[in-house]
Amino acid sequence: MEWDSEVDVIIAGGGGGGLIAALTCAQAGLEIALFEKTKHLLGNTAASAGMIPACSTGFQRQLGIDDSVEKMTADILMKNHNESDPALVRALATVSGEMVEWINDSLQIEMSVVLEFKYPGHSALRMHAPPSRSGLELMKKLKRNVNRLENIYLLLQSSLEKLIQDDNGHVIGIEVSSSEGTQYIKGKKVVIATNGFGGNKELVKQHIPEIAVAAYFGYEANTGEGMEAGIAAGAATKSLTAYQGHAGINENTGLLVTWGTIMMGGFYINRLGERFANETQGYSEFTCEVLKQPEQYGYIIYDERIHRNLLPIEDYKRLAEMEAYKTAETVEALAQEIQVDVERLSFTFMNYRHQQDGQADAFGRKVFDENLEAPFYAIKVIPALFHTQGGLLINQHAQVLDTNGCVIPNVYAVGGSAVGISGNHAFGYLSSNGLLTALGFGRIAGLHIVESLTEEKRRAIL
Ligand SMILES: Cc1cc2nc3c(=O)[nH]c(=O)nc-3n(C[C@H](O)[C@H](O)[C@H](O)COP(=O)(O)OP(=O)(O)OC[C@H]3O[C@@H](n4cnc5c(N)ncnc54)[C@H](O)[C@@H]3O)c2cc1C
Repeated sequence: MEWDSEVDVIIAGGGGGGLIAALTCAQAGLEIALFEKTKHLLGNTAASAGMIPACSTGFQRQLGIDDSVEKMTADILMKNHNESDPALVRALATVSGEMVEWINDSLQIEMSVVLEFKYPGHSALRMHAPPSRSGLELMKKLKRNVNRLENIYLLLQSSLEKLIQDDNGHVIGIEVSSSEGTQYIKGKKVVIATNGFGGNKELVKQHIPEIAVAAYFGYEANTGEGMEAGIAAGAATKSLTAYQGHAGINENTGLLVTWGTIMMGGFYINRLGERFANETQGYSEFTCEVLKQPEQYGYIIYDERIHRNLLPIEDYKRLAEMEAYKTAETVEALAQEIQVDVERLSFTFMNYRHQQDGQADAFGRKVFDENLEAPFYAIKVIPALFHTQGGLLINQHAQVLDTNGCVIPNVYAVGGSAVGISGNHAFGYLSSNGLLTALGFGRIAGLHIVESLTEEKRRAIL
């Protein structure tokens, strides 16, 4: 076969997972070709809140936060009812602390522990994020690091089509399509970092019909080619029914309304003015609850205290600048503002206000935080699919496995293109499993590639 070019490592997909893998390999002096389908390095990572869960970090220790690999592993497994591979979860929890510190110290992307609120299901304050709490800032700064390194060749508008294998089934390169036609790139290792298939309506309908009716709120280019290239090379897949939904998208602005509104004491009503489920079960599975409600939308009701506390969060600040919510001094006036039955919302509010922190209400909610006080806020929200959480079967080094559970040599999958750690359902998603599997497996794959290529070189010299 005639190759168009040759590098040490090929990376397909320029989101968070791909960039972390590229930077890890490049810092060790390897030559990288990074192929990104679109014109930009953004992906879902840029749309995210940039919150990376990590345990046993120096940042946590400075704040006296007690956390460990055991605790983080247990939280993730508890959320997915032990449906995901514990070896993958442990590998991610183990790398998480080192990775966040490496991002801060080596990549010079300032990280700090998110103290504003604790996400549902995390037993410790362990979200680490850049100052603006935005994935866009994270991606801009990762890109700056990529641009600084001369051994990363970035090729935009270039799409992974196929993995190329030798007669033994070892991956030896990829086929890429771009405006210049088809190219064949040889590489010692290939990392698939093309996220999942959320942007492919047909695949979503096939694997996750329950969410196919909801809007897709992720990156349009994530249409599953990486997964399909892996399958064509003999890879197995797992947990294709898993996904992250979010019940808090502001319909008018398309911005994410942080679930902090809920965790700090707010609640969610349907268009009739009624609560209908435990909002603190998690924003992903709450998506399904909203899809069962009339006209499939609702409002989050909260107050001035919560509003003020959330202003440091970039997306919320933008919502505030656009005044995307309605406010009123009384619940009755708020109901009129949002055209919800006044008596029903007043009744819902009165019942909600009588709940006490720690005691389960009729829906099983136990976390209420402080009482809501005037002025009150209401923001209209719809449910959406963020990203799929199943994909190519991998081991704890992010190496892709075939249908017999054997490693397909030289190919790795990270982030949304690989099987995640969220089990097989929407409820299995613990907040920030998405970035953890993208960046964490990106780091793990990168470190494994560096180690194995160094070992191969050493053997060749001997
Ligand atoms: C609104 C929103 C908010 C979120 N908030 C959070 C959060 O706070 N915390 C969290 O953990 N997770 C969050 N997530 C999920 C998280 O963003 C993703 O799980 C994570 O960013 C996935 O990273 P990735 O590198 O796998 O994919 P992406 O960042 O999506 O990158 C994939 C890249 O691959 C490219 N690509 C696709 N196909 C090809 C191809 N054939 N060839 C070459 N390139 C290709 C795409 O164009 C894209 O640039 C959020 C998601 C959304 C949508």
